[in-house]
Amino acid sequence: MGGTVNVESLARWIRTFARDIAANQDLLTRLDSAIGDADHGVNMNRGFEAVVAALDKHRPSNIAVLLRDVVATTLLNTVGGAAGVLYATFFLRIAVAAGQERSLDDLAFAKALRAGLEEVAQRGKVAAGDKTMFDALAPAVEALEGALAGGAGLSAALRRATVAADAGRDATAPMLARKGRASYLGQRSIGHQDPGAASAALLIAAAATALGEASG
Ligand code: ADP
Ligand code: MG
Repeated sequence: MGGTVNVESLARWIRTFARDIAANQDLLTRLDSAIGDADHGVNMNRGFEAVVAALDKHRPSNIAVLLRDVVATTLLNTVGGAAGVLYATFFLRIAVAAGQERSLDDLAFAKALRAGLEEVAQRGKVAAGDKTMFDALAPAVEALEGALAGGAGLSAALRRATVAADAGRDATAPMLARKGRASYLGQRSIGHQDPGAASAALLIAAAATALGEASG
């Protein structure tokens, strides 16, 4: 014990994200209608509604059970779409990093997020500038690591990560899409924010809301 991030606060993170996805479902779908197939909001909301229903039924005994058995498995069974699989991958890798722990300290949590990010990059064969969720997640993880290394508490570090994720999301607009459906549009993908980057920025903001409050 003793870690600042635990099963309860992580479950709160997931529930907060689910709520924010529901509130932004139309926006995410509108973004995906410009450069994709207009289903990102619907996909994510279907998946995270199912995750919340699963959370209501289970009392996960540790972080791995929460993020693997409840979150990732439910997403794989319900979301469909490229992003759903990649979000499942992200949470699955965090679960592996957490092992049997019931709580993680700030640095261990940042390390787990870094591992999740790298797994998304591998699975998605994606890098910075490809105009995907990676472009919001990567600067967020980097900002989190930098803030913690500089002595910030988790709450302040997650706030900086949120600012970085939002900037990363906004920076996808002028990019040419190189991955996923948006890449089929070529030059016509330019000028539109990436929907997956928009949902990923919500994920980081939800972490700041749900995980930051208990720490300094
Ligand atoms: P689909 O593209 O299958 O309809 P969604 O609309 O739910 O799935 O999700 C689209 C989002 O998925 C994109 O905006 C992008 O951020 C993300 N995405 C697609 N392909 C990849 C990839 N190879 N790597 C990382 N992210 C990707
Ligand atoms: Mg889509």
